Amino acid sequence: MRAAAAGTSAGALTALLVTHLHSDHITDLNDVITTRWILSFAPSPLSVFGPPGTAAVVEGIEAMLDFDTGYRLAHHEDLTWPPATTVVEVDSGDVFSNGAVRIMSARTEHAPVHHSLAFRVDDGDSSVVVAGETVPCASLDELCDGANVLVHTAVRRDLIEAFGLARLSDVLDYHSSVPDAASTAARAGVRTLILTHLVPAPAPGTEAAWLDQAASGFGGEVLVASDLLRVEV
Ligand SMILES: [Zn+2]
Ligand SMILES: [Zn+2]
Repeated sequence: MRAAAAGTSAGALTALLVTHLHSDHITDLNDVITTRWILSFAPSPLSVFGPPGTAAVVEGIEAMLDFDTGYRLAHHEDLTWPPATTVVEVDSGDVFSNGAVRIMSARTEHAPVHHSLAFRVDDGDSSVVVAGETVPCASLDELCDGANVLVHTAVRRDLIEAFGLARLSDVLDYHSSVPDAASTAARAGVRTLILTHLVPAPAPGTEAAWLDQAASGFGGEVLVASDLLRVEV
């Protein structure tokens, strides 16, 4: 839905990058697979790059879709092939290159999630890192070095500790706080830090506190992500 709103579509994707296999990061993958399939007029397997385990997850999703796939094959005379994916399980290093765009990955620290990955996309002088979920670590620092934009998940340690709830406080030991994300951005010398996947989700109009916490550790531009935010790289 967001791809369509941004002017592209699941059918137009070259590849899909999965940082890790936590449910909140893959829950909509089935919709991407189905939407791409029913919008294609010839077989068009979706390339999925992700950590070890991604192939098993995608296989499970495709099994879950079996009934739906059967209904659609029975209904559309011109649709004669099932949905297809090409899964490439990756570790740190080179992931993808087409001559113009190069994608690299690095392992992050999100234990007990093994592995979790960050991705860096370079296109000429432009570069973006998607950090996924992690605490600060040397491998992420290295991947981020000199990037234009760093998209980083962040949690508010102060707010979470104030709840005093162990189940919620558990998230603190495998996520970056806002100052953690800011320190990663500062060490790497990125131009712009974009905070995303905010926990707890800020009520509209309260984003300034997040920006203030980041600004104390990072002198560059800081943005709080919202759906369909566009950033010039
Ligand atoms: Zn996670
Ligand atoms: Zn998450």
